[in-house]
Amino acid sequence: MNYVSTRDHNKTVTAAQAIAAGISSEGGLFVPESFPPLTVDELRTLVPMDYRARAAFVLGRFLTDFSAEEVKACVDAAYTAEKFGDHPAPLHTLHDDAHILELWHGPTCAFKDMALQILPHLMRVSVAKSVPGKEIVILVATSGDTGKAALEGFKDVEGTKILVFYPDEGVSPMQKLQMTTQEGGNVSVCAIKGNFDDAQTGVKMIFTDKEIGKKLAEHGMAFSSANSINWGRLVPQIVYYFSAYCDMLKQGKISAGDRINFVVPTGNFGNILAAYYAREMGLPVGRLICASNKNRVLTDFFESGVYDVNRSFYTTSSPSMDILISSNLERLLFIASGYSDEFVREMMDDLKKKGKYTMPENVMSAINSVFRAGCCDDEGTKETIRETFENYGYLCDTHTAVGVNVYEKYEKETGDKTPAVIDSTANPFKFSRSVLDAVMPGASEGLDEFATVSELARVTKTSCPPQLADLRDKPVRFRDVCDRDSMEKAVFRLLGI
Ligand SMILES: *Cc1c(COP(=O)(O)O)cnc(C)c1O
Repeated sequence: MNYVSTRDHNKTVTAAQAIAAGISSEGGLFVPESFPPLTVDELRTLVPMDYRARAAFVLGRFLTDFSAEEVKACVDAAYTAEKFGDHPAPLHTLHDDAHILELWHGPTCAFKDMALQILPHLMRVSVAKSVPGKEIVILVATSGDTGKAALEGFKDVEGTKILVFYPDEGVSPMQKLQMTTQEGGNVSVCAIKGNFDDAQTGVKMIFTDKEIGKKLAEHGMAFSSANSINWGRLVPQIVYYFSAYCDMLKQGKISAGDRINFVVPTGNFGNILAAYYAREMGLPVGRLICASNKNRVLTDFFESGVYDVNRSFYTTSSPSMDILISSNLERLLFIASGYSDEFVREMMDDLKKKGKYTMPENVMSAINSVFRAGCCDDEGTKETIRETFENYGYLCDTHTAVGVNVYEKYEKETGDKTPAVIDSTANPFKFSRSVLDAVMPGASEGLDEFATVSELARVTKTSCPPQLADLRDKPVRFRDVCDRDSMEKAVFRLLGI
């Protein structure tokens, strides 16, 4: 199986080349040339397997230039019981129609661990196959969770260095502490004066700058990406959609072949795209429901067919979804237009020049045959956290609450009773202040971050994961703040070249 670039379909690479490079040199994203089918009968064989075996099966379909042993070694190194507990992606039933897929049982308590614990292993194998001997420099732009998960995944992985840029004002105190206290000899962290899109645009520019690339090459280094533009980030996410379906079967909630809906709190469009890929492979999926916060650029896109970033950017209580440019949408446009690189180039050109693009009706109707979208603001998020806790005894974080809120509206408006699986993307203690104030208004007033954590645990009779609680006593290692324009300099300084 090969991969092509969304902006140049003549450019064909192997999985190893796609993962080692991160992004195509002309700025396109790598996508599979076609989708390997996985039949309902095969799906049944996955049901008795544990998560690691399910992952090896699904990943094997895409990483055809990896040996079965290589795939298995990557999976086994990533999803250990020590890091993820018994089940890396368990289902929690909210009520008859709605189930929560908990994706935050990894080391950093966010769903990013599902991909970023395995990416370094996929990367090591990919580099050995495609650019042996190179030192890989991972550049990350983060709205909070990716940065920490990438740092934790790549720390002290031989042959790699990792630099993370985050928006100074755009992450939660817990997220910031997670990053600034990061351990490891090959890691660096730098705050940016700007928002997430500024950080992402800066990183993309550095990636595609020929002069910078040359300078790195002279030092035996090459850039790669741990953002969800990298195929190695997306492919592990396909696994948990199959796994969730298997667990629904196993628990007798559905019969083989029944359709289920997925609801995904969305930012960069990586997670929901993985669900779409699973559907393309044959997973019985009805609708994919894209949930956004007050930054409702995607909701408007699905409703109007116009993607328009000329609008205000809001900082919300679900910061990992505070995004105006959802990079992975490009991959959806490519498929929905029948793999037209020309179409994608045209849309991306419009986006760059005018900050917007308009979809032709035929492409949009293909997209709307699968997707639905909705959004809610911070007030709605808060209400949903409180009601979900009061009605079902389930405490969810702000991002998950956006998903639950949008699902409830969808169900009410459409009457669609298809069983729904709602992705839960972070542990509530990562966003303790917002969650506590939702459950008990005003309760966090005057409390610092860790007092808030204790109060949330007391009020809800839940406990804070040790990897968050322990941050209190860790020394801060990184205090750099740089301008958007000096990111390039920061990279050279941090690499010592
Ligand atoms: C990254 C993230 C999201 C958004 O996921 P995308 O793949 O970027 O759409 C949602 N919730 C949390 C907690 C996240 O960390």
